[in-house]
Amino acid sequence: MSDGTKGGGSTDARFAGHTPVMRQYLAIKAEHPDCILFYRMGDFYEMFFDDAVKASRLLDIALTRRGKSDGKDIPMAGVPWHQAEGYLARLVAAGERVAICEQMEPPDGRSGPVRREVVRIITPGTLTESGLLDRSERRALAALVRDDDGERWGVAAVDLSTGGWRLFAGEGASALDEALAVARPAELLLRNDDEYSCGCGVTRPGDWSFQPQVAAERLRELFGVADFDALNLDGVPQVAAAVGAVLVYLQQTQRAALPHLQLPVYHEEEGRYLQIDAGSRRNLELHATLSGRRQGSLIAVLDRTVTPMGARLLRDWLDRPLCDLEEIERRHAAVASLVDDFETAERLRGRLAGVRDMERMLARIALGRAYPRDFRGMADSLELLPDLAAELVDRGGLFTGLRSACLGLEALADHLQRAIADAPPALLRDGGVVREGFDEELDRLRAASRNADSWLADYEQQQRERTGIANLRVKYNKVFGYFIEVSRAQAASVPPDYVRKQTLVHAERYITDALHDYEREILGAREAAAAREQELIGEIARHIARHGQAIQRAAAAVATLDLLVCFATVARDYGYCRPRMHDGGTLRIIGGRHPVVERMVGGDGPFVANDCRMDMEHRRFMLLTGPNMGGKSTYMRQVAWAVWLAHAGCFVPAEEAEIPLIRQLFTRIGAGDDLASGRSTFMVEMIETARILNKLRPRALVIVDEIGRGTSTRDGLAIAWAVAESLATSRDVLTLFATHYHELTTLPNDCRAAFNASVKVREWEGEVIFMHAVEERAADRSYGIAVARLAGLPPHVVKQAEMRLFALEHEAELRMEAEADQPSLFVAAERRKQERELLRLRRLKEQIDGCDPERMRPIDALLFLARLKQEASE
Ligand code: ATP
Repeated sequence: MSDGTKGGGSTDARFAGHTPVMRQYLAIKAEHPDCILFYRMGDFYEMFFDDAVKASRLLDIALTRRGKSDGKDIPMAGVPWHQAEGYLARLVAAGERVAICEQMEPPDGRSGPVRREVVRIITPGTLTESGLLDRSERRALAALVRDDDGERWGVAAVDLSTGGWRLFAGEGASALDEALAVARPAELLLRNDDEYSCGCGVTRPGDWSFQPQVAAERLRELFGVADFDALNLDGVPQVAAAVGAVLVYLQQTQRAALPHLQLPVYHEEEGRYLQIDAGSRRNLELHATLSGRRQGSLIAVLDRTVTPMGARLLRDWLDRPLCDLEEIERRHAAVASLVDDFETAERLRGRLAGVRDMERMLARIALGRAYPRDFRGMADSLELLPDLAAELVDRGGLFTGLRSACLGLEALADHLQRAIADAPPALLRDGGVVREGFDEELDRLRAASRNADSWLADYEQQQRERTGIANLRVKYNKVFGYFIEVSRAQAASVPPDYVRKQTLVHAERYITDALHDYEREILGAREAAAAREQELIGEIARHIARHGQAIQRAAAAVATLDLLVCFATVARDYGYCRPRMHDGGTLRIIGGRHPVVERMVGGDGPFVANDCRMDMEHRRFMLLTGPNMGGKSTYMRQVAWAVWLAHAGCFVPAEEAEIPLIRQLFTRIGAGDDLASGRSTFMVEMIETARILNKLRPRALVIVDEIGRGTSTRDGLAIAWAVAESLATSRDVLTLFATHYHELTTLPNDCRAAFNASVKVREWEGEVIFMHAVEERAADRSYGIAVARLAGLPPHVVKQAEMRLFALEHEAELRMEAEADQPSLFVAAERRKQERELLRLRRLKEQIDGCDPERMRPIDALLFLARLKQEASE
């Protein structure tokens, strides 16, 4: 990519038949063939040719024509420059890249087009405008580099809207998937021959930029640092190369200084965070449900943050729970202190609500793309910091660092308060952003242009008195500037120093030297005031950027504080408890609840809390059975989420919780077909299972919800059995294993660390009632047909299924009888009759088992008896 055509018209022979403006346009477009070119013409960004056709379709704007060039019509579409943000958002969402081409000088009336330059390329990974960004999501641009055999890899991800980096290094494909599931890039830079599919746009900026030497050069230019040692990049050449690609791409697309960019420092991550693979992470539904909705995800319940920075940090903490007990304790202690002193928490929340997105405002100010509201927002936010700090005095723990990060910016806050008007206009060019009294020069120039109105009124009055023409007027138009107008009838009375400029049907127009001089002065003053204001804003922006690091630190402190207050609020409002974390093997959750389901149940009664008691030595494998819809998935997920939340620093939805340090979490939850990659349900299931068994390490928590369902019953059972046995004998691994294979409930006989649990159901008048309570015993049977009846399967199908089940359950006996008897047609009919009879007896027995005479009213008991009699005689 080059800088585009900087001069006026292009002399490129390819565009010879075109007008000068079109020649310039085509030359710039030729430099950016992969972008839609927003070509600035006055107050519009215009698009031409194919870009215009595409944009009119994507943006639903009119497609017009702009004359002819080279003998052909030129399709054109345009958007007003000050509304460009909304249109850009739609183009970027549609996967387009947009090159913004500005006029680099005012039109000066000379021949030929004004100088234009592409000042920025907007791509999905490099957005900074608030209107183009989700407040609670980071927007990353990432680069991936793999070594020659494809095994070792490095990923560098930067969020340009805040300047922060995340660097990852590792080996193997699944670790790479994990890293990219955390980085969640909006755009991925790849080498030409590399492939990676992560659901985001891929850009191939050219292999030369993926080099450690390139990174070193760019780092020296940007930060004056070229020493990989200092950045901890020396042992990870793939990461260094990825940093190089990102930095070059930022230079190519932003074409601006990047003073807010932080240093890309690599931190060894091994063992620092709770490990989870990309598939298990998806199953956990942290940010979105498996069907892609935020509603129903964990974050939707937890997000009580009041600042965008807090909301983004919530994602970060939820994405990466910690494995360091001390660090986790520090978070829990901070949350506990806010829960205990909830008044302070509420006061803090009130103050935090006034803090704007300082992180992103800083980025826009540093990049020279800020709107007046960003300066105002920065001033207001900085002003609140000392109040926040005051609330944190003597609180100790995490709060000590947060407090000191909120201090030290008072002078800057004061400066901005003095500099920026209380309610600045939306756009800088409208003037009035800098406060009156901040700069003498600006005040003088503004006064000069403001006084113009009264001077003109005085002048008009003087001239009326001087000439005796009562209807004499001083007017203004763009062609002549200020002039004096008198009616034709009065023209004879004008003094000789009036110079006639124009004759209209009923009026004559004149100018005078005094008017001319004054006009020059006031128009000059207006322009000078605008220029002075621009200059001042530039100075203020540089002043802010010089405090960039301190602002970023303060923004991080605000985010942390917001999140701690959010956790405290959730804990208090929803009754979460502080977990006791330890490095032993006991997992004990008393009165645990599912954070999402407990907020949704209502109609069917309150959420039923459940306990979970396991330990890595003697009770490490829970075999969970029970009917569909009984609450197995809910229970297992609530255990997984309690563990996850505790490691993230949050309290957990339970009365009491004792949680062991867990290093790995695996979830295998009902697979869907992965048709896009050509894998069947069963294949996906087996791949996921293989992944768990192959990667399992001590201190893992494994959640398996159904296994071996996509194949024949016997194969499925055999596989489920073998997997269960393997997990149950894995030391220091806790497993919750839900299955419909009833046969597995004998596993605890052979394996002492395994135990049965089931979700309780009751049968009442042939219907199953789900109690949602987990008991430590095996389910008595599977209730599949009862649930099918509940779901509304037609009665004749349900009846048929019951008979089939009976036949299957007695298959062996029936076959033996059949072989002995060589049954005739008559015998077969007789047997079917017997089957029906047995079935009826069984149903009667179930109903009698399920009734509770002590709790029956006499009338119900009578009705019950009558129904039994009728069913027995059918
Ligand atoms: P399947 O085997 O079909 O997946 P399941 O046994 O896993 O079923 P869940 O999906 O966990 O059952 O639960 C079914 C529904 O029961 C939930 O959507 C929820 O509304 C309700 N439920 C589950 N657990 C409880 C509980 N402890 N208290 C109240 N309602 C619950």
